Amino acid sequence: MERTDIRDEAQALNARLVEWRRHLHKHPELGFDTQNTAAFAAEQLEAMGAADIKTGVGRGGLTAVIQGEKPGGVLGLRADMDALPIHEETGLPFASSEEGKMHACGHDAHTAMLLGTAKLLSRHRAELKGAVKLIFQPAEEIGAGAVAMIRDGALESPRVDAIAGLHTGNFWTGASAGEIGYSRGALMASADMFTLSITGTGGHGAQPDRAVDPIAAACQIYTAIQTIVSREVPPAQAAVVTVGTIQAGSAANIIPPSCTMQGTIRTLFPETRTRIQERIREIAEGVAGAMRASASVKFTYGPPPVICDSGMTEKLIRAAGRIVGPEHVRPVDAPTMVAEDMAFFLEKVPGVFFWHPSAVGEGENYPHHHPKFTVNEEVLWTGTGTMTELALTWQEQVTPQPAAGRGQALS
Ligand SMILES: [Zn+2]
Ligand SMILES: [Zn+2]
Repeated sequence: MERTDIRDEAQALNARLVEWRRHLHKHPELGFDTQNTAAFAAEQLEAMGAADIKTGVGRGGLTAVIQGEKPGGVLGLRADMDALPIHEETGLPFASSEEGKMHACGHDAHTAMLLGTAKLLSRHRAELKGAVKLIFQPAEEIGAGAVAMIRDGALESPRVDAIAGLHTGNFWTGASAGEIGYSRGALMASADMFTLSITGTGGHGAQPDRAVDPIAAACQIYTAIQTIVSREVPPAQAAVVTVGTIQAGSAANIIPPSCTMQGTIRTLFPETRTRIQERIREIAEGVAGAMRASASVKFTYGPPPVICDSGMTEKLIRAAGRIVGPEHVRPVDAPTMVAEDMAFFLEKVPGVFFWHPSAVGEGENYPHHHPKFTVNEEVLWTGTGTMTELALTWQEQVTPQPAAGRGQALS
């Protein structure tokens, strides 16, 4: 028997979700400077009677607690709040009022959907086991907000036992608004950067024998590191190594003293991530040495891969099925190599991150971070409903369904 019909309640809340989302959309804030967004969310949470509302967690972040009346564990629910430095071109009546700032990734919708979840949960405290910790995060787009919030204790007091979050939009090609997409393992990639400096000895372009050419060494290193993914990473473990810049030299007849390359590494498995870093260093140093030059590599670490816990994923599938219908809950075809700093939370606590597709309609879909990006407001309630249902049921056992479709076979 169905406990309470969260589906109907979430659907009935959609107009309010749209209102919140439009307000947030009109007033975007960047990076850690999300104080007004957090203040707006705090105001709504206060009106709902949420407990322990704390602003300034991880600078621009906010946490609050919905305390259940039954004993149990604590589920963290996370939404990011930051916008992007983009000049909006949607022409919507509620378009950004802040020049050069835009919610072009749907984080306005994430914040609105989590506020809606808080609203529904606050009505159902009598049946809520344990508590829900609401985590409103700044600075996702610069990959720094999650870490800052964790450092500031967002996962403590009360200690978070499991966590969930979603991303709206159209990362999942081929999906329609109203569906929910999940992955039993990696959903998104890690993103690290490297800077490779090659040092030679500068000289006259006509006398290469008196110089050590760092450009020649760089070309060999470039070619050799492209074999890491093609020859060393297991083919089923997707990975990307892209060199995006190579810089050296000032004139045609001068051998420069040094050359610098910068690139990005994307992986779906922690062991691939470590291995690629090690190999870039070994190849760069070895090849440079063989060519009489020297090389050093500096890595800048971004988020690890977004890896979902299998138990929490089963619970998400069940919860989402009750909201959108089991036929609209599908495994994603493939993970995306885009990164998300939700991964830092998932590194600390078992949890699940899922796709909330919100394509607008034929021909109107612009990619994330595009000046015309927008989301389908008619399905905001499905995100709110799914998170609410998950919060009310994640502590119940679930029997995995032998689901049909792709991505299920284990043999
Ligand atoms: Zn984004
Ligand atoms: Zn985003």
